[in-house]
Amino acid sequence: MSNLYFHYPFCKQACHYCNFHFSTSIKHKDTLWEAMKMELKLRSKEMISPIESIYFGGGSPSLINPKSIKELIDLTKQNFTLYSEVEITLEVNPDDVNESYLIELKKAGINRLSLGVQSFLDRDLTLMNRAHRSDQALVALELISKIFVNYSLDLIYGMPYSSITEWEQNLEAALDFNPPHISVYALTVEEKTALFHQVKQGEVLLLPEEAVEAQYQLMVKKLEGLGYLNYEFSNFGKPNFFSVNNQNYWKGKPYLGIGPAAHSFDGFQIRRWNVSSNLIYLKSIEQGKLAFEEEQLSQKDRYNEYLMTGLRTLEGISLVYVQKTFGKRYALYLEEQAARHLSEQFFFWDGDHLKVSANSKFLTDGLAADLFMV
Ligand code: SF4
Repeated sequence: MSNLYFHYPFCKQACHYCNFHFSTSIKHKDTLWEAMKMELKLRSKEMISPIESIYFGGGSPSLINPKSIKELIDLTKQNFTLYSEVEITLEVNPDDVNESYLIELKKAGINRLSLGVQSFLDRDLTLMNRAHRSDQALVALELISKIFVNYSLDLIYGMPYSSITEWEQNLEAALDFNPPHISVYALTVEEKTALFHQVKQGEVLLLPEEAVEAQYQLMVKKLEGLGYLNYEFSNFGKPNFFSVNNQNYWKGKPYLGIGPAAHSFDGFQIRRWNVSSNLIYLKSIEQGKLAFEEEQLSQKDRYNEYLMTGLRTLEGISLVYVQKTFGKRYALYLEEQAARHLSEQFFFWDGDHLKVSANSKFLTDGLAADLFMV
């Protein structure tokens, strides 16, 4: 089973924290959409296992009309084998949502939505330079919860100036809709973003790490108390509503990425990424060529990646899997490294699975790095 990802690289405006590949100039949007179809056809032989998840991300794929989305889904069906219950997700922004749009998306074959709320506080939305306001997010959620059974919303915690009470109110505003899935990310300051410069100039003051952690702990307690499973560090789902797309990615299954800057992985050792330029992408596809770079992952890279993704999940990492996939040397190394931390109670063994203990969850990425093979 594998994933298919479409990267639609256009947005109405640039969010201050965002370092994804997108353009706010929509001049080439129609030709680029056609080029993505071409790329899909050109690469149809690369993915032989059935597609279990199709994901429209970006950028802002909710700027695409449902008719065009249906055409791309139909083209996918013609060129690939699809799993009978394929999950087809579209990322949507609240300001693009209205009732008829949602109904048309459903008819086009979309069966899961991921709504980019980020915050229900207008102060946060202004600071992030989001294109929507909180009342639009509320209206969008109201409509989505009536029309779609399977949907998720994104929230960002650790926002500058936010108090723990405001964060709790933010969570409660989302929980009022009883969404089946919530993805929650800490605000991160990436280089070359507007936020990076604002922080550097002292125009925006970040929350201290302890305050960010307190928001994280509150969220885990609240969501788990309501029956959400924290099946991955940033993802909470009700049973049967975990994202197939995310899970396949963490399990190291193959994925095919279509569109500028989209990444692909063969499930073994080759990772490649398309050029992050809409114009170069367009020109190369027009000539029937693909513009990309690729890397071959070493055994060590793959082991370290398994640790990094696996420890963030509910299942943790399996010693049996490590031995089978990477060999005895890696299994012994893992046992030795884990033993160093067991007394500090950062980790625990659950059968053959190594997991991060509940109190140390917030430190997961650092702890995983500590176990890396160097
Ligand atoms: S809408 Fe999404 S992709 Fe576009 S700038 Fe904002 S965060 Fe980035």
